[in-house]
Amino acid sequence: MDNNATTKVADEVFEAMVPYFREYYGNPSSMHTFGSQVANKINTAREQAANSLGVSPSEIIFTSCGTESNNTAVRGVLNSNPEKKHIVTTQVEHPAILALCKHLAKKGYEVTELRVDKDGGLDLDELKNSIRDDTALVTIMYANNETGVLFPIEEIGKIVKEKGALFHCDAIQAIGKIPVSLKNSTIDLLSVSGHKLHAPKGIGMLYIKKGVRLSPLLLGGHQERNKRAGTENVPYIIGIGTACEQISENIVEEQTRVKALRDKLEAGILDAVPQILLNGVKNERLPNTSNISFEHVEGESILLLMSQVGIAASSGSACTSGSLEPSHVLTAMGVPSVTAQGSVRFSLSKYNTDEDVKYAIEKIPPIIQRLREMSPFWNKNQQ
Ligand code: PLP
Repeated sequence: MDNNATTKVADEVFEAMVPYFREYYGNPSSMHTFGSQVANKINTAREQAANSLGVSPSEIIFTSCGTESNNTAVRGVLNSNPEKKHIVTTQVEHPAILALCKHLAKKGYEVTELRVDKDGGLDLDELKNSIRDDTALVTIMYANNETGVLFPIEEIGKIVKEKGALFHCDAIQAIGKIPVSLKNSTIDLLSVSGHKLHAPKGIGMLYIKKGVRLSPLLLGGHQERNKRAGTENVPYIIGIGTACEQISENIVEEQTRVKALRDKLEAGILDAVPQILLNGVKNERLPNTSNISFEHVEGESILLLMSQVGIAASSGSACTSGSLEPSHVLTAMGVPSVTAQGSVRFSLSKYNTDEDVKYAIEKIPPIIQRLREMSPFWNKNQQ
């Protein structure tokens, strides 16, 4: 139940990749048939990726991961527009955007981080007022990795376009979980990561709308139409292409099933455990994600005990130098630090079953009860 961290490589994806390690191992840039047949397969993968987003294959480049896609988009736009020194983002982005923006702030850029309300939503008037003449880029995520909260991306994009800035969207948690089409979209650049959608770790892609100027992050050969140098990771590109094709075919029915499982998990825990908070539920959310704060317990302890009975989930807090820092996402939503520290993220995939959910509902309540009984702050009468 930790699929927002990473997913299992689908069998179909793995099977499609295998021949490209040993049989078809030519360099796609080579002039001989051994290379060009591989180049043709990369083109097919690019078409599969493009079709799944409703864009043209020439608008897709392959990268090594979601983090690289985000860095390429943000740095590439800034380097192509050196006269513009302002970036707008939100307080709840993934570190692959936030750490980059903090670095850029040290290098002389001005960064506006938009706040969210208690349900994880954005104030679109605040967004409108934050975009200036010197704003190069607005970078806002599609779906939050910790809470699953969805931002109204096309509404956001409309505002960004009216104000004349470029719009990058980190859609790494959205792709594969909800249908996303970029046909007639306001998005200029969109990041995707393979390992969140049943392709392997170490492959990502970036959509760059036709006409958007972008300096490459990596300089070298002419691969990816001069936008990302380096010999292509052929098997992984075939893998992400196949995964994208699978999404296009099956997303609605699969995600309806996943949402039913997630809702059952939430209802089961809510029924059996007092004093809990479901974070972000008043907003539209990803169908697979549930973020639950358990009062008077630490998230890390819950994770440990769950792990002992074979349940994998995660907490938003980062263990830095021995002190537990609460999740920046929950903190931005105004969740008090002690409550945020008792938070656990469950994230399902198409491979989870009804039995998994039943098992979790049976195992989790006694774990919370046990931990609360050890807590000096837990008063049994609170039940
Ligand atoms: N952005 C979001 C929203 C994510 O959830 C993640 C991974 O958790 C990333 C970026 C980074 O992606 P990758 O692990 O492919 O570098």
